[in-house]
Amino acid sequence: MRVSVDNIDTEVAAGATVLDAVRAAGAVVPTLCFDERLTPQGSCRVCLVSVRGRVMPACTTPAADDMEIHTDDDTARRSARLALELLVSQLPARALDIPAERSELVRACQHFGLTATRFDGATRNAGVDHSHPYVKLDRDLCIACNRCVRMCADVQGTFALSLAGRGFDTVVVAGTGGPWVSSPCVACGGCVDTCPSGALSEPGLADPRIGRTTTTTCGYCGVGCTLRVHVRDDAVAAITPGHDGPVNRGHACVKGRFAHAFTRSRERLTTPLIRDGGRDSPLRPASWQEALTVAATRLAAIRDHHGPEAIGMISSARATNEENYLAQKFARTVLGTNNIDNCSRLCHAPSAVGLAAAFGYAGGTNSVDDLDDADCILIAGANPTEAHPVIGARIKQLVLRGARLIVIDPRRIDLAEMADVHVRARPGSNVAVFNGIARVLLDEGYADQDFLRTRASGLAELTTLLGDYPPDHAARLAGITSDTLVAAARLYGKARRPAMVYGLGITEHAHGTDGVRTLANLAILKGAVGTPGCCGILSMRGQNNVQGASDMGALPDMLPGYQHVTDAGVRARFSRAWQAEVPVRPGLRILDMFASAIAGRVRAMYVIGEDIAQTDPDSGNVRRALAACDLVINHDLFLSTTAEHADVVFPAVPFLEKDGTFVSFDRRIQRVRRALDPPGQARSDFDILHLLARAMGADLGCPTPADAMAECATLTPTFAGVSYARLDRDGPLHWPCRSPDQPGEGRLYLDSFATPDGRAALAARPYLPPGEQPDSTFPYLLITGRRLVHYNSGSMSRRTPNHQLRPHEVLDLHPDDAARLGLADGDLVDVASRRAAVTFPVHLTDTVAPGQLFAAFNFPDTPTNALTSDASDSETGCPEYKITAVSLSPAGLRTSPNLSAQG
Ligand code: SF4
Repeated sequence: MRVSVDNIDTEVAAGATVLDAVRAAGAVVPTLCFDERLTPQGSCRVCLVSVRGRVMPACTTPAADDMEIHTDDDTARRSARLALELLVSQLPARALDIPAERSELVRACQHFGLTATRFDGATRNAGVDHSHPYVKLDRDLCIACNRCVRMCADVQGTFALSLAGRGFDTVVVAGTGGPWVSSPCVACGGCVDTCPSGALSEPGLADPRIGRTTTTTCGYCGVGCTLRVHVRDDAVAAITPGHDGPVNRGHACVKGRFAHAFTRSRERLTTPLIRDGGRDSPLRPASWQEALTVAATRLAAIRDHHGPEAIGMISSARATNEENYLAQKFARTVLGTNNIDNCSRLCHAPSAVGLAAAFGYAGGTNSVDDLDDADCILIAGANPTEAHPVIGARIKQLVLRGARLIVIDPRRIDLAEMADVHVRARPGSNVAVFNGIARVLLDEGYADQDFLRTRASGLAELTTLLGDYPPDHAARLAGITSDTLVAAARLYGKARRPAMVYGLGITEHAHGTDGVRTLANLAILKGAVGTPGCCGILSMRGQNNVQGASDMGALPDMLPGYQHVTDAGVRARFSRAWQAEVPVRPGLRILDMFASAIAGRVRAMYVIGEDIAQTDPDSGNVRRALAACDLVINHDLFLSTTAEHADVVFPAVPFLEKDGTFVSFDRRIQRVRRALDPPGQARSDFDILHLLARAMGADLGCPTPADAMAECATLTPTFAGVSYARLDRDGPLHWPCRSPDQPGEGRLYLDSFATPDGRAALAARPYLPPGEQPDSTFPYLLITGRRLVHYNSGSMSRRTPNHQLRPHEVLDLHPDDAARLGLADGDLVDVASRRAAVTFPVHLTDTVAPGQLFAAFNFPDTPTNALTSDASDSETGCPEYKITAVSLSPAGLRTSPNLSAQG
């Protein structure tokens, strides 16, 4: 479409507004109520222009062919200036003292040359609300533009904000108008980001002395939000979401956006630490040379005396791809063992195995962008609004725009409130639920028979198995009504473009791989994967780089790109490139390393950036394993529970202090860039691995992260087209990316599945009971999971003001159970499992079902994983975190937290 802006011919796309045309032409029209992430409302009248001789708001007026637009029209300018002047007349003078780069209002005034107003309005003196650690409200600066309210509703989907009062007194309020910190605000920062007047602000950005800004990728969860890190005096002043971020599109959450103060915590490790005697002697600071010599000498001695298999190495899903690449190369070429694993073992190993068996690749089938096309979203065992908040917000937006929603989860999670059907199945019954839904899809004609005939295998076996899963039987196994199960099946079956989003509620079970396979069956039956316009399956990865750590071969049986270590041809290729033999025998998985350590076969553990003594299941067992080792080496930012068991601790750096790449949950490879210098002598895992290899007389090659990615690309077909030059020039790439001229594949399998026969594989898997069962002694089921404001071990988020938002862990307990036990909100309760006992304060909530409990494991003083069991998925060794049988007893008369653990 062609328009004329100030007599300049301008091309704009169909559907463009006059404001789009003005901006395309390079002209400037100020705006106040407009935000490109929101539907324009044209209320402030500051963007008035002349359109074919009439004065119109640019933001809401559609552009049309041959339209003549004038931004310099006298009448339009005078009207816009007057509207602005009236607005400013209500504000205190300090509204115009805010730096222009932080205030659209100030920029608008500058545009119109407005320095004072002829209208001397009354002042409000409504005061400030600084109760929240991140969101600060100055009511007198509120211009009631409604942007924050719409951002909270339309983008974040939280509906925490509204405009209260009338006329001149109108002002934004959070919740019911009490202190902001007590409102339902989830601190995504969207309101601060959009506020044009400075009424809503955050402390860091208010300081005009901000120096440099670096664009990087968030290091908390696997969503992979693009963040802009603003640095002042070598500390993070503020972080804002990248508006060009392909996943977050200008949005973020309370962790990525605000939880950065840990970087300058006084508790950061800034020198290596060693012990002079046994574990009873204290850790003391040491020079790098001394610590490297101790670690290298003792590692080499164990390797040479007990054999390479006596060393177990755990790499990190928090670390970059390049660090994981180097870690597995170190294990294989310097230590000589395949005993390398990463924490995806504890979360998404069933996804890697299950998705690879069903479709070919060990990752989700689609890009998150495809969610936008979904008319029905099935969420199973995931709580995105807390664990992956930006995706949770995107799903809310889609539902508000009309997509149907099915939630399969034992808890009434936030998204269940918006769901058309909530399948509140008993923990551990996923396979029964999915088999029941599959049966309905086939029985009621919702299956895509053409797809099944031409592109799938295994239908006959599945059909036979499903004979045992009529809806009423499947529903009984899951503790739900048959009507609920059938309603979910019909909703999914009727959808034209259904999407699936699942998480650890599917994988962290004794039959987690069966859960993934039977969930994948549903997408195959519908032909909703590998077809044009399909939305496929997204597996919500927990930690920032849990996908990449496995992609890079930090696995006991796979080299980078999921190439089997047992394949002689693959081994030969890597051995040639690395000039060192790749060991033949697959190594130990994490839980097997612990068992081997307790049995005396593994004598050294090398743990990079994971607090296994807090986050791994049955943590008493983990401590026994660490205690049994002759040597424990650990990299970490802080003296973690695991570091306290170590003989050598190397001070490491977080994502904000290093270069590299992460892979997001949708297989998107994104750049991580160093925004800060590390404190003291802390170094990246990449550097530490190089130094330790050198101290052991080896050279790992690839001196920089870019070199490591280049080497990986030469050895890994699915990464062959990836390079730093390309990522920096063109932005993120999805894997597989097989050559420098291939764009990377977001939506997989359009031609063929990557299975041996090119077909999607249906799986006939029966329901099997969980590994741990309640009984009369341990009658309750404890589910573990995530909370919004903290992350994993909490080592980073607890050292930020997020701590004010949640200062300790609680046990979610249904009010009926509380009444039976005589417990009130905040009372202490002793939770005992077959392994240990931990005391929690209770939080009464009906988001958990009667008989079920929920807790996270973010706090070392409430060590939830002392309770969890060693039951694990038989195919992958992924622990059954989601089911622990426990008993509850009121903790006597204690009223203040005495958060003890025994066991
Ligand atoms: Fe970071 Fe995840 Fe939050 Fe995005 S959603 S800002 S990646 S923690």
